[in-house]
Amino acid sequence: MTTVDLDLPAGVEPTPLALLLLGRQRDPDSERGVDCPGDLPPASDPTLVARARAAKAALGDRLFVLGHHYQRDEVIEFADVTGDSFKLAQQAAARPDAEFIVFCGVHFMAESADILTGPEQAVILPDLGAGCSMADMATFDQVEECWAVLSDAGVADATVPVSYMNSSAAIKGFTGRHGGTICTSSNAKRAMEWAFGKGEKVLFLPDQHLGRNTAVRELGLTLDDCVVYNPHRPKGGLTPEQLQAATVILWKGHCSVHGRFTAESVADVRARIPGVNVLVHPECTYEVAMAADLVGSTDFIIRTLDAAPAGSSWAIGTELNLVKRLAKLHPDKTVVFLEKTVCFCATMNRIDLPHLVWSLEQLVAGNVPNRITVEPETARYARQALDQMLALP
Ligand code: SF4
Repeated sequence: MTTVDLDLPAGVEPTPLALLLLGRQRDPDSERGVDCPGDLPPASDPTLVARARAAKAALGDRLFVLGHHYQRDEVIEFADVTGDSFKLAQQAAARPDAEFIVFCGVHFMAESADILTGPEQAVILPDLGAGCSMADMATFDQVEECWAVLSDAGVADATVPVSYMNSSAAIKGFTGRHGGTICTSSNAKRAMEWAFGKGEKVLFLPDQHLGRNTAVRELGLTLDDCVVYNPHRPKGGLTPEQLQAATVILWKGHCSVHGRFTAESVADVRARIPGVNVLVHPECTYEVAMAADLVGSTDFIIRTLDAAPAGSSWAIGTELNLVKRLAKLHPDKTVVFLEKTVCFCATMNRIDLPHLVWSLEQLVAGNVPNRITVEPETARYARQALDQMLALP
């Protein structure tokens, strides 16, 4: 890895593996293809807000800006709609007249928006470096290999894939091709129930924690009913007998943000804040979910805080930008972040005001930057899996 532009004291050499500070500098080796042609304004530019407003005004109804709940406040300010990944994809689909959809979120979300919008609409991701570590944990080749392992064990025909929205278009396409469904953290229970009406086993991709929390906490299965398929081990690290005995085959993937919360942090916050309610996202581990008072999707977390009485105390286990925003929105309640360490989603934070201004000004100038497109065959099957989710009872 080569790092550049590190602002180090004289005589201090960066180590070859130095991590980049969030939102600063770039690594041209690992960030191939994420250059911003033209000038990316510096974050210190005092005219950024005015430039973003002017570009939005110039584009008018041709432009629709979507902002995920985990985005920075400076970006959310310019979003026409905010929401979770599914709501934003639906919103994109509901705006067939918008020529440009600027998606302030991460790559898999922009892919879903492209799948659900018309071919004449361009979906733009302001920084192509905004990926998702969880989605990257299940590649198409790995999942195809897994299906071959399931076939060899004689269980593929009895297995229905259920893939979390937080997966690449290729994985969504795989899911549609094998008769499965997409799910979100709001409807994972219904998706799994539907799958068990169709087959005997579920292959849940790519978040093992959401899969386990849904199967065990919500459907009443046991931990022993679940096995974890590790794509980095031969045959997933499982024997044919283990696959035959399992009811749920969990992919070994996780969210690098929600996976950091621990049961110790739950105990710690309970000791610090008497009477606190611990509310966590189901991408947290099973141990954290079991230690919490409430578990639910981003939307559930927002609604729960809205309905909470004044004077109540809440420790929230989800992305920090959202928790900070909730704390600001509810000054009559105590809202704290569950962990002691900082826990932003690094890739979500790649979308900042300079990248937003850059992409909007490129559009004003007649260029379409960072367009996200999904190859038609993949899009067709992915759409089947997404439509199946929409049709869930
Ligand atoms: S919060 Fe987790 S699942 Fe969401 S984009 Fe970031 S890494 Fe991916």
